[in-house]
Amino acid sequence: MAIRELPPDVIAQIAAGEVVTRAADVVKELVENAIDAVLAAACAGNRENPSFTNLGTVSVDIVDGGHSRIQVADDGCGIAIDDLPATVRRHATSKITSTEDLQRLQSLGFRGEALAAIAAVADVTITSCLVGSETGAAFSVVAGAPGTTHPQARRPGTSVLVERLFERVPARRKYQRAASAETAYIGTMLQAYALAYSEIGFALAAEGRGILRTSGSGDLRAAAGELFGPEVGRELRALRDDRDAEDASQALVAVTGLAGTPFLHRATRNGIFLSVNRRPIESRALQYAVEDAYSTQIPVGRHPIAMLDITVPPTEIDANVHPTKREVRLLRDRLVFGAIQRIVRATLGVDISMPLIGETRGQPPVPMAETPLDGAPLPMFGGPRPGQIEERVRPRLGGLRILGQVALTYVICEGSAGLYLVDQHAAHERVLLERLQQSVGRGEGSQGMLQAVVVQIPRALRGALEQYVAALSDLGFDVEAFGEDEVVVRTVPAALGARNVERVLQETHETLDAEGAGPDWRERLATLLSCKTAIKAGQRLEIAEMQSLLNQLDEATLCATCSHGRPTAILLSHSQLEREFGRR
Ligand code: ADP
Ligand code: MG
Repeated sequence: MAIRELPPDVIAQIAAGEVVTRAADVVKELVENAIDAVLAAACAGNRENPSFTNLGTVSVDIVDGGHSRIQVADDGCGIAIDDLPATVRRHATSKITSTEDLQRLQSLGFRGEALAAIAAVADVTITSCLVGSETGAAFSVVAGAPGTTHPQARRPGTSVLVERLFERVPARRKYQRAASAETAYIGTMLQAYALAYSEIGFALAAEGRGILRTSGSGDLRAAAGELFGPEVGRELRALRDDRDAEDASQALVAVTGLAGTPFLHRATRNGIFLSVNRRPIESRALQYAVEDAYSTQIPVGRHPIAMLDITVPPTEIDANVHPTKREVRLLRDRLVFGAIQRIVRATLGVDISMPLIGETRGQPPVPMAETPLDGAPLPMFGGPRPGQIEERVRPRLGGLRILGQVALTYVICEGSAGLYLVDQHAAHERVLLERLQQSVGRGEGSQGMLQAVVVQIPRALRGALEQYVAALSDLGFDVEAFGEDEVVVRTVPAALGARNVERVLQETHETLDAEGAGPDWRERLATLLSCKTAIKAGQRLEIAEMQSLLNQLDEATLCATCSHGRPTAILLSHSQLEREFGRR
């Protein structure tokens, strides 16, 4: 499509804004143009049935965090020679022509502003060759003045070179971040695009050194493996979207992608990649939805790894709210939030052969580099060290030989891999929590008591009595408010057993009183109830009881941490023992 000035009414609808405030903004705009161009070329090739593998490549070279030089090259559709000067004109775009187009946006760009904005603050040289055309051409804007177009040999596609960024805008220049920080940020950003467009190959080099590269195979897991290492690729699970097609609200939102097993966790949230209709976005709220789905499975203070693409009808989003389009407005954000939680939970809840044993506590997790992109291949994720990976198949605990109890707190046992220490409280709590969660909403699994018990409701809870009773009923209690400050409990979830209901509830109330319930009552109650019901540290266990605990733990599918995020078990491997004793 030819490049035309937008009609004024469209211009009016496009939020004006500061498109370029830092080097990463430039990279972002150029990369989005390159992606649009690669997709346009692919669609032109076969509009009806575009293939989804190796559509093209986008290469990014930066020097000095992009401050001295940014070059983005693609093998996309290219630009007609006569159109080159129009690329840097404000509101000139080939991607939309009318207001209606804004509503069914397929491309990443649509404002026709970026190149104009970049050319206003840097020197820009665009070299391009239109697909199917014999000759290419180059066109520059130096110090804000457009030059002439002259022939230049080039393969089909486009390169945009940006130099002397902000040199003419000293105020902006002064506020730029350190080159290393900008490089790291650009790296994370490029990862996001490489994951959102796995059918396109991406490469990033800084100071001439390759930092990341994806092949463009079209396979998300392969792209993740290329970015973060094959072991991460292996620990990612395809999202199970078990949505109810009958439910119209669920039909609006689809979530696809991969979620890391709880074993893959890291110190920052940089491993959570979100895109909406394949537009990478930053959203604290949606990030939280992902994290919350992992909440009891990942150690406190650590963050999961996941790459999610949310598909909603284009009419459901407004990509135009943020000047650099980094955020989108979702018209039904609660729906999306709920969908993410449901799908991530469903994915984690099934078929995850959890690694039971990571590092022992004495060896903290591998620290995360805060600026991960220091040129090395990206060892960005915490967790096991290379070589440890093979040990991560979860052993059958029930098959271990129980040696006894240590400090009345840990069950110690032996298996083919070495010595296992199982935290009896954490393990039991994990088992109970999972059972409770499984019984939610099923209305089954209640267990009557000989006598109903009446439990005092603490002061802090009284305002929320209804919520509290509802949450308890959800978990399988038959419970009813009794006056204003008591509840009567007739049955308890079988998962918990009927022992000491009164004490357990009383203790739960005390904790809720002291700490509050937080946003998710049911979750919080389930966690507290399992914690209070579980075998305590300091409790003497018979061998048979230990055996039964290990057997139950085998049946639990959730991860190897208790609901407070502490590990349930650790392994002292034969090789560790040998090392400690100097045998190796
Ligand atoms: P937008 O992307 O919103 O259209 P830009 O200012 O980023 O606006 O780009 C202006 C126009 O320049 C685009 O509409 C497109 O026609 C052309 N263009 C920019 N970069 C490329 C590229 N890498 N390949 C092909 N065309 C490009
Ligand atoms: Mg653009």
